[in-house]
Amino acid sequence: MTVAASHVPGSVQSRGKAHAVVIGSGFGGLAAAVRLAARGFRVTILEKLDAPGGRAYVHQRDGFSFDAGPTIITAPFLLEELWDLGGRRFADDVDLRLMDPFYRIRFDDGRVFDYSGDADKVKAQIAEYSPADVAGYDRFMAMSEKVFKVGFEDLGHVPFTNLTDMLRIVPDMAMLQSYRTVYGMVSSYIKDPFIRQVLSFHPLLIGGNPFTVTSIYVLISFLERKWGVHSAMGGTGAVVNGLVSLVEGQGTEIRYNAEVERILIQDGKATGVRLASGEEITADVVVSDVDPAITYGKLLAEHPRKRWTDRKIERSQFSNGLFVWYFGTKRQYPDVKHHTILLGPRYRELIQDIFKHKTLAEDFSLYLYRPTATDPSLAPEGCDAFYVLAPVPHLGGDTDWETQAEPYRARIARYLSDSILPGLEDQIATSLVTTPLDFKHRLNSHLGAGFSLEPTLMQSAWFRPHNKSEEVEHLYLVGAGTHPGAGVPGVISSARVLDRVVPDASTFV
Ligand SMILES: Cc1cc2nc3c(=O)[nH]c(=O)nc-3n(C[C@H](O)[C@H](O)[C@H](O)COP(=O)(O)OP(=O)(O)OC[C@H]3O[C@@H](n4cnc5c(N)ncnc54)[C@H](O)[C@@H]3O)c2cc1C
Repeated sequence: MTVAASHVPGSVQSRGKAHAVVIGSGFGGLAAAVRLAARGFRVTILEKLDAPGGRAYVHQRDGFSFDAGPTIITAPFLLEELWDLGGRRFADDVDLRLMDPFYRIRFDDGRVFDYSGDADKVKAQIAEYSPADVAGYDRFMAMSEKVFKVGFEDLGHVPFTNLTDMLRIVPDMAMLQSYRTVYGMVSSYIKDPFIRQVLSFHPLLIGGNPFTVTSIYVLISFLERKWGVHSAMGGTGAVVNGLVSLVEGQGTEIRYNAEVERILIQDGKATGVRLASGEEITADVVVSDVDPAITYGKLLAEHPRKRWTDRKIERSQFSNGLFVWYFGTKRQYPDVKHHTILLGPRYRELIQDIFKHKTLAEDFSLYLYRPTATDPSLAPEGCDAFYVLAPVPHLGGDTDWETQAEPYRARIARYLSDSILPGLEDQIATSLVTTPLDFKHRLNSHLGAGFSLEPTLMQSAWFRPHNKSEEVEHLYLVGAGTHPGAGVPGVISSARVLDRVVPDASTFV
């Protein structure tokens, strides 16, 4: 079935507006839609799932509300900017709360560290662990600020479509020692092994291995201090719903259960998409928020590709997978913070198992989310909503999740029960497990990776799939696998780059 735009009420021609189709309603796709509509495009978002958000989908179960993915909101100005473009005020739609501490970090021996943006509080705790590292912390944060200024403020929104853009930044990268790893840079300022972990785990939040990822990612420490770590009342789902209402207010249509099967090409230009149902939708501009490995490997499978060939995709490195267990408890655990990181007995070795050996280890490090610490309405009265996340190998390893998911969940439940959620196994009210298989099949993520392409130096900036496709005219890419990379600030910034590479809507009509 072909539905030519000219035959659809309110279509390109009937409204006289250039038409942009956005594939996927993750944060990247929604942010792209806001920007394109603000620039005069008529926008249609096509989403494979039955609801928006992608990784930020919301699971509703037995009266509990579970954010599927992102929980830590940093750099809120990026969201405020989108709301401004949509003609509304962010604060009118979303109630963000500053977290204090940002996270509680619990070491395997039971000691805790409350990490926040308050330098004095952080230094007082460092002094307890390792007095000699207090001065090193100040020096590390000064370095983080320098990297932030270049890596986030100067480069986060550069298109990197030309090699010259890349060559131009080489002196800055050398000056900032970007050839070092995050762990290597932290270790040059800090001696204590625990404090090294506290200051170096951040890349794991966006799929990077602290022992191999470029030290550019130490910028996250300063970014968090500058703007804080926030959570939304109503959970991250409230931000997604706010974005949906923002784009709909701009006249954008979102179609759910609308899986794109092919990007249509004519004379080297994207001219629309074909859905799995067979329906064809024409467009002047196509923006893909889908994992670039799938955009190029599947949606453009039949199109000859110069750079992002199947071979290049197969040879690329993908981020780790994620095991996430969403559970509601019949009682509350008031001592548990909104965000807790539970570090296991091994650090470097565990990360090696995940990223290098791709084996599922017996031990784990966990991130535990308890949004009901801030917003009790996310669970029935007297109950708590949680999720616990473990970084695991992506599907390039040999873990059989069909058989391993339940034993792994049970091991995590036992660990939590023995550490900070006593009696957990008898308190479960509802439970849902997702593994890298869900990332592969539900979210169309290559190898079931949690964050698409790993953010290594050789897969960053110009080396990452460009926001303006290298393969096809009028095709643009946003989202975690493109520049600048994963994480909510990263994917919103990828949409920001579109303003620099998508021609004005008027050029199409
Ligand atoms: C468990 C977890 C926790 C995280 N925690 C944080 C955090 O606390 N803070 C933070 O900043 N970041 C966090 N992240 C990272 C962040 O969530 C992601 O980087 C970001 O949300 C990705 O957005 P995206 O737009 O790139 O892609 P996605 O959210 O994956 O959206 C892509 C969309 O495309 C749709 N799609 C795929 N194929 C098709 C097709 N063929 N046709 C139509 N639609 C299609 C998918 O269904 C999906 O909705 C977390 C990620 C995970 C998984």
